[in-house]
Amino acid sequence: MTNGSQPPGPVAHPQRDEAIAAAYAGGTSQAQLGRRYGITQQRVAQILKRHPEAKQARQALDDQRRREREAKVESQRQKRAVSRKHARRHGTDYRYQLGCGCLKCRAAHAKLWRDWDRRRQEL
Ligand SMILES: [Zn+2]
Repeated sequence: MTNGSQPPGPVAHPQRDEAIAAAYAGGTSQAQLGRRYGITQQRVAQILKRHPEAKQARQALDDQRRREREAKVESQRQKRAVSRKHARRHGTDYRYQLGCGCLKCRAAHAKLWRDWDRRRQEL
């Protein structure tokens, strides 16, 4: 790299710095990298300044992980909404597990066990 933002002076550990940049891009924290290589977190930050591509890649990775987390939360929220709807209906094992002892729910629960037992015997 030969751009003007690069700090002056030769790079003392080019291979180590490349490894640090790659690990950082892959999701390792600066604190972890400092411990792994026996250098301060400040030094890690300085090294990463010479590797803007690694910082960019890391940003993209963090963004992607955040989106995945948000999608997971949303899907769980939808599942819970479905469960709540389901829980209002009688004749389900779900409702039986929630403590309903009506005939329909008891029958649903018993059927589940019968089916499970039959599957087990077929194996
Ligand atoms: Zn019931």
